[in-house]
Amino acid sequence: MLEIKNLFCHYGKRCVLENINLSFEEGKFYAVIGKNSSGKSTLINCISGVKGYGGSIVCDGRDLKSISDKERAETISCLYQNATQSSFTVREMCAFGRSAFRDEKAERESRVDRALEKAGISHLAQRRACEVSGGERQLCYFAMNLCQDAHILLLDEPTSNLDAEHEALLLSAAKGMCCEGKTVICVIHNLSRAIKYADNVVVIDGGKCVFSGRKEECLEKNVIEKNFGVKKYAVNDEIFFAV
Ligand code: ADP
Repeated sequence: MLEIKNLFCHYGKRCVLENINLSFEEGKFYAVIGKNSSGKSTLINCISGVKGYGGSIVCDGRDLKSISDKERAETISCLYQNATQSSFTVREMCAFGRSAFRDEKAERESRVDRALEKAGISHLAQRRACEVSGGERQLCYFAMNLCQDAHILLLDEPTSNLDAEHEALLLSAAKGMCCEGKTVICVIHNLSRAIKYADNVVVIDGGKCVFSGRKEECLEKNVIEKNFGVKKYAVNDEIFFAV
């Protein structure tokens, strides 16, 4: 269980996250939604440890500020926005996910194989990460996260460069991690996809959490319609939102 208590976050004097209190359970997919600049990425960056904050973030009773780098690598992985270029091969990049661990070579290789397969990029393994498309590079970083095999997977707009097929592949693979007991926390702009894959929904608006609850409650209370000014419609049991 990951618990965020009284979280505040500032850039200079400007407060961009205010009194956030959230709990994330094991085995669940959390969609974090909100308009641009509402504070979603900042929340992810606080949890991943790259942005300082006030308040506490506690995982299984341990404050994340007090754990070692290795424990952090076991606990949290993060797929950030804007995957950067690299001259390493896709396979080498993927293996970096295990750099905090002392795996035997055979175990590491098998973890890399599995992660590449789950991310659908086994065929790219020997290509250099700077010589693949933006979408393929995003999947490469996703594979690195899968390979790390942390308890909590943070995804910040993971599908922004992906076509519909690869978007579905990535989100399905992330959802599959929940079946293995992992917690997935995914910032996502596509509201329909958010509802399709999420167990729970978190809505951030103006640096505050304005809703956190089960997907069914979110739909019953028309939370998305009220917060995004959209209308809901259903096609073949799938829910869509449009302005
Ligand atoms: P979102 O992910 O919801 O689009 P962000 O968390 O990126 O929002 O940003 C929240 C607010 O913090 C925005 O007003 C943004 O301009 C500001 N912000 C984000 N990053 C920085 C930064 N490095 N320095 C100063 N302000 C920032």
